[in-house]
Amino acid sequence: MDMSAGPLITVDGVGKTFAAGNVRALAGVDLSISAGEFVCVVGPSGCGKSTLLRLLAGLDACEEGRLALGGHEVRGPSAEVGVVFQAANLLPWFNVRQNVSLPLRVGGRRDTNDARINDLLALAGLADFGERYPYELSGGMQQRVGICRALARDPAILLMDEPFGALDALTRERMNTELERIWRESGKTVLLITHSIGEAIFLGDRVVVMSPRPGRVLADLPVPIARPRSFDTIVTDPAYAPLAREIRALLNAEGGLE
Ligand code: ADP
Ligand code: MG
Repeated sequence: MDMSAGPLITVDGVGKTFAAGNVRALAGVDLSISAGEFVCVVGPSGCGKSTLLRLLAGLDACEEGRLALGGHEVRGPSAEVGVVFQAANLLPWFNVRQNVSLPLRVGGRRDTNDARINDLLALAGLADFGERYPYELSGGMQQRVGICRALARDPAILLMDEPFGALDALTRERMNTELERIWRESGKTVLLITHSIGEAIFLGDRVVVMSPRPGRVLADLPVPIARPRSFDTIVTDPAYAPLAREIRALLNAEGGLE
């Protein structure tokens, strides 16, 4: 993917209306993300966050406005994009290694034991779990397997839709810490949707706040907090409370997080 020319991800005046129910989900969304950035999106339930992510992933057609990755218009799913959803959706009859390597085998490769898979498992702290089956893993570990699978084809971009929403609070903090490290070590560009203001600030270089449906960008706020970040210290960072307050005020003024 050509990263030399302009932003890696461009969303330009994107709108979306679902014919079923005549729902206007998005209206005039503009967003620009540079290579290597970590951008978090927060917004009320039903404001079109998942719709925006599906459009970027090429899983849904864009009929209004323009979406481009690396300067190329999105026309369908791309090997340059890995997607992680709230449920890991692992195949129960495949072990961890087989689940992670699935995108490679779908792409025509048969070797599931290659160095790349080992590196990915190590990156996600799963080095000793390659031969385990999903039912043997905790929810957090399953979600890490899902992240490894999304990274298997070495995509430039990772799109994550509330990936830790189903996890308990402590596991979620650990996953956030792991994800920040994986992002720093892998150099990926990440767009992550979350309901949690704390998660958005912990992970993001920027936090994009969306309005209620039809979703549009209300604010795009930089997070001026040094990395690596830690849950032990982030809330006492002088920038944390004012930023959290600003995001909460924007969401409350527009109807709040549901
Ligand atoms: P969010 O992820 O912010 O909660 P979604 O993007 O899932 O919101 O949905 C935005 C709106 O679009 C909702 O009102 C939802 O019901 C509607 N919607 C989403 N997908 C479809 C679809 N395939 N057909 C019809 N309506 C849809
Ligand atoms: Mg959603």
